[in-house]
Amino acid sequence: MANTKTVLIVDGSSSDRGNVAAFLEDYYNVIDTGSTSEAYGILNVDHKNIGAVILDITSDGTYGEEMLNFMKKEENLSNIPVIMTADTESEETEISALSAGASDFLYKPYSPVIVKKRLDNIIKLNENASMANDLQKDRLTGVCPEEVFCQKVTRLLEENPSVDYAIVYSDIENFGLIKDLFGENAGNNILVYMTRVFKHFISKDELCGRLETGNFVLFLKYDKETLDENLESVVKIINDFPVSMNIMLRFGVYKIEDRTMPVQAMSGRAVLTAGTIRGRYGQYVAYYNKEIWEKQMYEQEIIDCMEDALRQKQFMVYFQPKYDLGSERVAGAEALVRWQHPSKGFMNPAEFIPIFEKNGFITELDKYVWDTTCCYIETWIKNGYPVVPVSVNVSRTDIYNPDFIEIILGIIHKHNLEPENIHLEITETAYTDNPEQIIEVVKQLKLLGFVIEMDDFGSGYSSLNMLNELPIDILKLDMGFVQDDMGTNSNNILSFIIGLAKWMDYAVVAEGIETEEQIQILRNMDCNFVQGYYYAQPMPPDEFEAYMLRHNILDRIDEIPDAGMEEFKFEKSQGVMLIVDDLALNRKILSTSFSSYFKIVEKENGAEAFEYIKKNYKNIDVIMLDLVMPVMDGFTLMRHIGSDEKYKNIPIIVTSQGGEKSVGKAFSLGASDFVEKPYNLRIILHRVQNVVMASRKQKDIEI
Ligand code: C2E
Ligand code: MG
Ligand code: MG
Repeated sequence: MANTKTVLIVDGSSSDRGNVAAFLEDYYNVIDTGSTSEAYGILNVDHKNIGAVILDITSDGTYGEEMLNFMKKEENLSNIPVIMTADTESEETEISALSAGASDFLYKPYSPVIVKKRLDNIIKLNENASMANDLQKDRLTGVCPEEVFCQKVTRLLEENPSVDYAIVYSDIENFGLIKDLFGENAGNNILVYMTRVFKHFISKDELCGRLETGNFVLFLKYDKETLDENLESVVKIINDFPVSMNIMLRFGVYKIEDRTMPVQAMSGRAVLTAGTIRGRYGQYVAYYNKEIWEKQMYEQEIIDCMEDALRQKQFMVYFQPKYDLGSERVAGAEALVRWQHPSKGFMNPAEFIPIFEKNGFITELDKYVWDTTCCYIETWIKNGYPVVPVSVNVSRTDIYNPDFIEIILGIIHKHNLEPENIHLEITETAYTDNPEQIIEVVKQLKLLGFVIEMDDFGSGYSSLNMLNELPIDILKLDMGFVQDDMGTNSNNILSFIIGLAKWMDYAVVAEGIETEEQIQILRNMDCNFVQGYYYAQPMPPDEFEAYMLRHNILDRIDEIPDAGMEEFKFEKSQGVMLIVDDLALNRKILSTSFSSYFKIVEKENGAEAFEYIKKNYKNIDVIMLDLVMPVMDGFTLMRHIGSDEKYKNIPIIVTSQGGEKSVGKAFSLGASDFVEKPYNLRIILHRVQNVVMASRKQKDIEI
């Protein structure tokens, strides 16, 4: 049989129903009965398979219209088309049946061929209609999806201009955790259960829909008292669902004031409102108010100017050093963005990053931050400055971008860096959102040589049980977590986490360290790295450069005992020490060490130095000369100096890594002395002293 739909014939006359049944049997499954009570039973059990009902008005002596009315009221049966039949023609009966929902009407005696034609048409029509209807429903819960919800709300608002309405958004705050612990199915069951609960509270001209995010949105008549009562009941009933965990429901209510606003914007306000009570224990409903409106306006302002701000370079990258607790040295830094806003002033990331994470602009900003960071590292390397790996923050949106790896590699290569120059900080909650995808991307990044840090560890929830699957190198403990734990109990959790991380071979960074006491505790727990105000605040690049120089070089100068400087016998002179070196670091060491004895002049190559010498040779006490430099090297400069009598008395100390050969060559070109790099400061002090004193004596003799 081609068509397996079932046709149910309900007719008190056995010969009438027998005739039609016999004819239809070639085309359909046919069930026929003379009793309406039997018919109810069949409908109840088999309604899904029944394509149509042929129902005689007078069947079984009971009025068939009663059954029709019943069917049209029942949700499961209302879509089944019904063809009514009657013995005697009556316009009144026909109209009444059709308006009660019958699809067609036939008078006896009828031709089975016509009955079949009508049936075919009606069944086909109904199938098309129900397909269209399915598209209007959410697959899991049967409520309408966002687009349909919006259309229906618009229509209902137009049809009921004097009724007050509200949009209510509902969110299960711990839904991710519930699914994680009890499985996807349990999650789905909760949603289906919730639909049933909502439907119970919804009356005519009210709606329940599901947003694209998967959360429910309700369109309800607004009466605050009733709404409060109903939502309270909903919370209670939903928490009766048999799952051994509190279901944390949050409702955001937006009372519709402006009916011309797009429904999506209304829902947006309800969503925003629910967000204001996230994480607040015991509070499950919030109403849209002025404060939320102002926040929304603020966000809009930020969004309106973000692109210009990026173009105009209003965003700046700050750096905060990270310390190795073992060696007490700076072992890294974190790049943190700041916004110098033309009217709002200096802004911290908390004021704009969450907005950019919502609207996706974070990927643009992050690209800029990575590029700027790499640009600084490139310059530091070029200048011979001490360079440590710099961590950049990677937002979860970045990771979902299919071009992410290509982008970050592109930036690294553009600045002639290697992946190990930067660490990637990925926040813990990113892993809990979509673990498979994140893990896949992180694996690839690791293969490429990037070091991966899990940021804000302890702020999410599910990382402990998935920690062993994560391809990361460093665990960065969440600041709140570290600070809270130290403030309250005996650091049990902290020491457990650090122990666990060590056991799994992850290095641990503790963030937000503000006191000596915290450092002691962390040191005892064998924590590897610390970052916090105790050591240094995030600072602009030039300050960070100076900081790193001080930390790496001036430390070494400090190592020279005061006596060392006392050995330096002459007074500060008015003369100049001319330092010629292409590496800023080398110039910095010398200038810092000798600035109390000479006026310091720095030049980056021989050519610039020679220009200076030509004009100022009378004031120069000593030249500290690097041999290998671009444009004009040290040997060539010495040849220029040697070519003019005027300059012959200026002592030159050559500074180089070079071996004996270059030392010999330098001496033959007129160098007074030689110091090797890297510098030993005590040796330089002595050499400079000897050379300068000798030259002064020489001058005295000549005078
Ligand atoms: P984070 O990555 O966890 O960065 C650490 C935050 O802690 C920084 O806040 C830092 O200034 C702050 N901090 C450091 N030491 C201490 C301390 O001792 N005490 C206290 N109370 N705070 C300390 P900041 O710079 O305001 O950044 C906040 C968050 O914004 C960052 O948290 C990060 O998630 C995000 N962020 C910052 N820059 C960027 C960026 O360029 N891209 C992305 N996607 N996110 C960024
Ligand atoms: Mg970070
Ligand atoms: Mg962090």
